[in-house]
Amino acid sequence: MTSVAERREQLKAVYEEARGCIRCPLHQTRTTVVFGAGNADADVMFIGEAPGANEDRMGLPFVGQAGKLLDKLLAEIGMERGDVFIANTLKCRPPDNRDPHPNEIEACQDYLRRQVDLIEPIVICTLGNFSTKLLRADTTGISRLHGHEEIRVIGSRAVRLYPLYHPAAALYTPSTLETLRGDFHRIPDLLALGPPEQPVIFEPVPEIEEPVLVPEQPPELVGEPAAQLGLF
Ligand code: URA
Repeated sequence: MTSVAERREQLKAVYEEARGCIRCPLHQTRTTVVFGAGNADADVMFIGEAPGANEDRMGLPFVGQAGKLLDKLLAEIGMERGDVFIANTLKCRPPDNRDPHPNEIEACQDYLRRQVDLIEPIVICTLGNFSTKLLRADTTGISRLHGHEEIRVIGSRAVRLYPLYHPAAALYTPSTLETLRGDFHRIPDLLALGPPEQPVIFEPVPEIEEPVLVPEQPPELVGEPAAQLGLF
C-alpha cells in the first residue's frame, strides 16, 4: 500500500519527466507540456483529447470554452476542479489543433496509465472519441458508447470507465449538450458504487533485510506542489 502523500510525490515525478518529454515530434512545436491538473487523490478523472492553443500557452487543461462548460457541469453535480483530476490523451498540442496521430497516442499513453495508477480513481470519464478508443482498446465510437459504464483495467487499476461526449462537441449542438448533461448527472451514482474489485497483483517476495526506518515528514514540511499542478 502506498500512502496518498507518496502517490502525490510520485505523480510530481512523472510530471517532471513529462515536462522534458521528446518521445514524439510534438515536442518540437509545443510551448508547454499540459500534464493535467487537479486532485492527486481524485475519485474521478476526466480524459480529453489534446491541449489546444490556450492550454498550450497556459500549461493547464480545458481552459477555453469547452473547459467552462466542463466547470458548469461539474458545479451541477456539486463538484469543482479541485475535486477531480483532468488530463488529456496527448500532453502536447498538435499543430493547428489537428487530430492526434496514432504514433503520438502510442508515445504518450504511458503517462496517462501512470497517472491512473497513481491517482487511483474510481471513475474515469473519457471525453470524446480519442480517449474512449484508447482506454477501451477498441474502435467503437462515442455516439454508441456514451453513458454506458463498464469495468476496465487501466494500467494496474480496475476502474469504472464512463465515456461521455466531449464538451467541445456539445458547445454548439443543444441535443448533444442535453445528452452530455444527462450522462454527467449520473457520475455521483457511479461514484457511490465505490471502486470495483481490483486485480490481484503478485509482488515478488522481497529478501529479508534489516528494516530501514524512514521518519514520516509532517504535512507542513511537504514541499510546495509544482506550479502547474496548482490544485494538488
Ligand atoms: N480539448 C481537450 O480535449 N483538452 C483540452 O485540454 C482542451 C480542449
